Amino acid sequence: MVARTVSSLVPLYSPRGYEFAPYAAARNWIGGEWRNASTGETMDVENPRYGRPMGKVVVSPGADVDVAVRAAKAALPKWRHVPLRERAQVMYRLKSILERDMEEMCWLLSAENGKTYVEAQGDVGKAIECVEFAAALAMSAAGGQIDVSRGVNCRLTHEPLGIVAGITPFNFPVMVPLWMIPNALMGGNAFILKPSSLVPYGGMRLAAAIEEAGLPEGIFNVVYGRRDAVSAIVDHPEISAVGFVGSTPVAKHLYGRGATLGKRMLCLGSAKNHAIVVPDADLELTATTLVASAYGCAGQRCMAATIMVAVGDVQPIIDEMVVLMRKLELGKDMGPIITKEDAKRIVGYIDQAESMGAKILADGRGAKVAGCPGNWVGPTLIDHVTPEMPASHEEIFGPVFCIMHAKTLDEAIDLANSSPYGNGGAVFTQSGEVARHVAERLDVGMFGVNIGIPVPREPFAFGGWKDSGFGCLDITGMDGFHFWTRAKKTTEKWAHQTGGSWMS
Ligand code: NAD
Repeated sequence: MVARTVSSLVPLYSPRGYEFAPYAAARNWIGGEWRNASTGETMDVENPRYGRPMGKVVVSPGADVDVAVRAAKAALPKWRHVPLRERAQVMYRLKSILERDMEEMCWLLSAENGKTYVEAQGDVGKAIECVEFAAALAMSAAGGQIDVSRGVNCRLTHEPLGIVAGITPFNFPVMVPLWMIPNALMGGNAFILKPSSLVPYGGMRLAAAIEEAGLPEGIFNVVYGRRDAVSAIVDHPEISAVGFVGSTPVAKHLYGRGATLGKRMLCLGSAKNHAIVVPDADLELTATTLVASAYGCAGQRCMAATIMVAVGDVQPIIDEMVVLMRKLELGKDMGPIITKEDAKRIVGYIDQAESMGAKILADGRGAKVAGCPGNWVGPTLIDHVTPEMPASHEEIFGPVFCIMHAKTLDEAIDLANSSPYGNGGAVFTQSGEVARHVAERLDVGMFGVNIGIPVPREPFAFGGWKDSGFGCLDITGMDGFHFWTRAKKTTEKWAHQTGGSWMS
């Protein structure tokens, strides 16, 4: 059989820059074939930089999920018995393919999502790290065994769950799916991905890359659709575990729905990440780090620092942030917002905070980029935000950084902890004592000291607390592997024992 390469399965994206270019129709990938939605329905895929369609994506009804489940079911019996080391070979090949196609894929991701080329490199680069982690499971995921009594051995193995699924957001079209897929496949499962239809090409390119890497057909499938396709995944009796990454209301709803059906659910949600800044913080490090964190990916990152709690007088740091923000070139250093509606929603938060008395230190409203009539909001800095303002506690998910003020460190910690979210948080200080005081008290799953985006790199796991995550375990690292597998304990006795008690 001739191996199917990425380029034989999908058209390659030709631009090596931000110019507008049309691209293919994204179709479902089921059982090793591209398929249309059974209804024939499609929707436009918009390039957010230009605000016009660059292609189409199919819109599947819930019934198409069942077609994918049947393909997965047919392929699963063989795959679940493939040894871990052989599964790892698929991961090694996938890593090479993603590295080979990195440049072309990053320009495509930039076109569908709006992020800059450099940010897209971060998306794919971190995704590759997750593939590396999964490949290493062949060496590190040994269960364990001991003789629990004379002649009696107990052994722990990690067994597949069967058919599992992932539902992913628009902001990291390759990385977030690969938080889940490699660990789930290494666990011997078949996987169904439902990507965000706003950015369908990441999932489509993953399907082609995974096919070229040699995964048996039917073990990885992609279905695009709306709410009914998601419901069909969560409700399907043959899908036993679901990973979700997206906004909190959907995460919470799906978690409850799936858990009631007895499924394993891990649903990551929204965020509001506080950066506590004290007067001894290094001026340059703090200002550059916070500007990069707040405005990278136009603030459309669940780990972006979105709000500073200034303890005492940190005005020089705020002034330096304004200087640095003025240097950001919209369209080059910062991309657009995913949709027009989101851009409007973000501007609404700025208007509202201003009308309630906040001070706009840098205003991104009305920003434009010549030749690109897309969904733009420029970097915005709002000072004197108070708890009554929705901008202080709701997720804005745009390039808007807010500043609140506290008199003491403990007041700042209380303010941060009053957020319903607990994804990430950070402190900026040169004092080990201050850093430790905050580290021990901030209710977040991922904490940074002088780090704007404290995303744990593999093998450390990614996951937040409170309303930022429903279900136990984190989504990457060893937790991810444990989420997608179940532990079997096998107790064996082969020698006949005489004269012992049942516990000897
Ligand atoms: P979203 O919740 O709108 O969509 C996520 C996925 O759910 C998509 O596949 C979408 O098609 C589907 N979906 C949307 N509404 C649905 C509904 N009512 N019923 C069923 N399915 C539905 O999120 P988004 O706008 O794509 O992504 C941004 C959000 O994701 C932000 O809140 C961000 O904080 C969050 N996010 C969180 C993490 C994390 O690790 N905690 C990572 C990335 C993004």
